[in-house]
Amino acid sequence: MTRHIRFQTGRQAFDIHEKSTLKDPWMKQDGNPEYESAGPGHGGRVSGVVVVVGGGIVGSYAAYFLSLIGMKVTLLDRFPVASKASGCNPGGLNPLHGPGLPGVMSPLAERAYHLNLSHWERVRMLSGKEFAPHLVSRVELAFDEAEKSVLRATIPHYDSIEGFSARWMDRDELLALDSRINPAVVGGLWTEGNGMVDSREYTRAVADAAVALGAIVRQADVQGLVTVGSRVTGVVLKDETLACDDVVIATGSWAAEAGAWLNAEIPVSPLKGELLTARLAGAPADHHVTWKMIGVYQTLDGHCWFGGTQEQAGFDEFPTKQGGGFILDSVSRLLPEAKNAEITDHMAALRPMTPDGLPIIDRVPCWENAYVATGSGPKGMLVGAGMAEAVARLVAGQQPHFDLSPYRLDRFSTV
Ligand SMILES: Cc1cc2nc3c(=O)[nH]c(=O)nc-3n(C[C@H](O)[C@H](O)[C@H](O)COP(=O)(O)OP(=O)(O)OC[C@H]3O[C@@H](n4cnc5c(N)ncnc54)[C@H](O)[C@@H]3O)c2cc1C
Repeated sequence: MTRHIRFQTGRQAFDIHEKSTLKDPWMKQDGNPEYESAGPGHGGRVSGVVVVVGGGIVGSYAAYFLSLIGMKVTLLDRFPVASKASGCNPGGLNPLHGPGLPGVMSPLAERAYHLNLSHWERVRMLSGKEFAPHLVSRVELAFDEAEKSVLRATIPHYDSIEGFSARWMDRDELLALDSRINPAVVGGLWTEGNGMVDSREYTRAVADAAVALGAIVRQADVQGLVTVGSRVTGVVLKDETLACDDVVIATGSWAAEAGAWLNAEIPVSPLKGELLTARLAGAPADHHVTWKMIGVYQTLDGHCWFGGTQEQAGFDEFPTKQGGGFILDSVSRLLPEAKNAEITDHMAALRPMTPDGLPIIDRVPCWENAYVATGSGPKGMLVGAGMAEAVARLVAGQQPHFDLSPYRLDRFSTV
């Protein structure tokens, strides 16, 4: 059975065709994304107070899924929700493109893509917030024959995934479609099915949806944990301690600090990324243009994201003149007229990276009730929902929908 969801955005309407094979066992049998109790009949539990530390996309979605299954949730962040990486990125949701894709991360990425799209409407209804969810075409450029053959080889994979398709466009077809593109291209891969959201509004909407389901969101700096034996019993704030039955660490690039509270090494470090927002002359395009990790991502409100950079710079979160210059030079190789764009903003944020580039989704070894979900690197807006659902299922004592062994914390242990 295929379920069709008609989704309306400001500029366009589109249909999501969702195969019943993707149907979530936590969903009601009629296929609506209504979560049933994870309780006794499902082999899990729903009682208990869960504190989620970190109000990025991972923590916000963890609060949402835990609230959906009936847990009492408090979501804490030292800043307003979405103040860090989750509020500072183009919000691209593509499970087929990026480091490790297609590959070991595909089950997580595809599950997450499905979760994002199937919860958009519910998140919007519960939160009352708009976050510009839409599907958008994208063209990935090739400037030589080697790049062309790499891109062409991905076509069968795009075509094999429900909701996606890809086809090769030669140079003339591409330039006829978008005359802004650098005529030095040899062609491009045109893909359909890519999702996109306004990342800051989306993350805030997910947190607000959790609140509508009963969660509490508080701005508070977590300074440590209270433990008894192998259990965490409380979360230490500046002036008080919150009792908890479970704790979920979703502190993004700052996860190593939380690991120290549990005597556990959580090897996550920040990878700085800078972005520009800009307005190009002429009518807005209806597609993104990318080359490798560089891209021009058109939004529904008429501006574009130009991105981005990747730099090991510790916890430095300030945009730099060199970063902005690099982005403008790189993007101008794709669309020469980008040099004349009106730059409207310049920002930087930290991607939470693990040594092998894969996320961590696990119960912290040696602890009965401490969980971690971080390390989503350059793909967290996409995979955050999948990581969060998986960690919520761990808390509820249920099997996640995909194999978590690539994401276990003990893969980094040296013993
Ligand atoms: C330039 C750039 C472009 C990107 N583009 C995309 C994209 O197009 N698509 C995509 O899927 N992904 C993209 N990403 C990646 C994505 O932004 C991240 O993977 C994702 O936002 C990480 O989410 P998170 O919730 O783990 O971390 P964060 O959003 O960093 O949230 C962690 C939160 O924890 C809080 N915190 C930390 N320590 C404490 C404490 N002790 N007490 C209380 N709170 C604490 C922080 O304040 C922070 O708000 C991009 C990232 C960058 C930098």
